[in-house]
Amino acid sequence: MPAWVTLRRMNDEDFMQLALAQANSALAAGEVPVGAVLVCDGQVIAQAHNAPVTQHDPSAHAEVLVLREAAAKLGNYRLEGCTLYVTLEPCTMCAGAILNARLSKVVWGAPEPKTGAAGSVLNVFENPELNHQTLSHGHVLSQECSLPLQTFFKQQRIAQKANAAATRLRDDAVRTSDSAFLGLPGYPWEPNYISDLPSLNGLRMHYLDEGPADAKVTWLCLHGNPAWSYLYRQMIPIFMAAGHRVVAPDMPGFGKSDKPKKDSAHSFEWHRQVLLEFVEALDLRHIQLVVQDWGGILGLTLPMVQPWRYQSLLVMNTTLATGEQPLSEGFLAWRKMCADKPLFDVGKLFSRGNPQLSEQECAAYNTPFPDAGHRAALRAFPPMVPSSFDSPGAAVSRQAAEFWRQHWQGRSLMFIGQQDPVLGEPVMRELQQHIRACPEPVLLPQAGHFVQEHGHEIASHALQIFFNLSE
Ligand SMILES: [Zn+2]
Repeated sequence: MPAWVTLRRMNDEDFMQLALAQANSALAAGEVPVGAVLVCDGQVIAQAHNAPVTQHDPSAHAEVLVLREAAAKLGNYRLEGCTLYVTLEPCTMCAGAILNARLSKVVWGAPEPKTGAAGSVLNVFENPELNHQTLSHGHVLSQECSLPLQTFFKQQRIAQKANAAATRLRDDAVRTSDSAFLGLPGYPWEPNYISDLPSLNGLRMHYLDEGPADAKVTWLCLHGNPAWSYLYRQMIPIFMAAGHRVVAPDMPGFGKSDKPKKDSAHSFEWHRQVLLEFVEALDLRHIQLVVQDWGGILGLTLPMVQPWRYQSLLVMNTTLATGEQPLSEGFLAWRKMCADKPLFDVGKLFSRGNPQLSEQECAAYNTPFPDAGHRAALRAFPPMVPSSFDSPGAAVSRQAAEFWRQHWQGRSLMFIGQQDPVLGEPVMRELQQHIRACPEPVLLPQAGHFVQEHGHEIASHALQIFFNLSE
């Protein structure tokens, strides 16, 4: 550093450069970028930048922060003879604080046309009614001082736009109106949405996320066709009561998630990829994987990718569709029914296997699908179950079977709804052979395909077996 720099007296612009450096720190911290320094006898006593967001303090403006720090350092709330440098014209609060501190002078940079109290909106410093007068000197390095502010508000606009675009409905999809889901019995939970998974390509996916985010245990509950997260409403409160976290997504095309218009948008690989990315995006760990129907056909292929995320498996009427065995008679009948009656009543399907359900509960299963335009997933899923060795998804299902047989280190628990003609006891006994150390299944003689409708009993049992917790 040349000698003349240190010898020369610092002038207003030099001190404003220090305040500007503070403003740029605020920008990096996500605060409105305003910086301030307080100078006494040519010495910098205090420097600070805006911090209302980080400090949860509406009064944490740069000026107030330097006044506090300087007064504490000097042991005097009166800062007579001192000068405050700030990159933006002070607001009324700060102007008032500056007067109360009896500062000799305030030097500010960029004008603030909306809230400025040094001449832009009003002028606190030139009011003869106020008994102390602080000299106000503005527009010092005005251009430079407004730059971080412009950058900040530009960044904010870009972020808001990106947000809006992400939740805007894609042209090739439909969205069941949010109001249709109001007041469904036994489903009081707030919606959560994600749309920035690469595979979603802007589709909005809904999921429930209940219980503490930092819980030591996370239950990941995967539904199948034609259900949605509503299917888990009996199990969720039981897991939550144990202090655990519960995450239950609606697959694209189901529940509160966006629904592609075309049947061909759905594929085994796409849905699997969405789930893999979902688990990674939420960084779920200590997962207790809960699966049934397509929740298992897809969900059982997930843990082999990142086994360290998974602790336990709770498996109900489902299968690994490896293409090695013919699909069950019951499944083929189901597939034919879906093809013959594409507008079948989903609520009635649930009521048939679950006479204990109320009319409103059955209707809740129809809610996501107000018309044929919302039913692409219902048409696409039955033919998508891998049926031959070369079907899409069959190879990855065989890899998964190998994983469950050879490499699964976690605990397992199997429940079988015995009234299920589609994925009932014979199919489940076969699956049990593929899961390492899977104990004898728990048989539910009254339960049909949608075993979760007996979820209270299942969830309590699982807590007891996995965590030695009893009600
Ligand atoms: Zn202020």
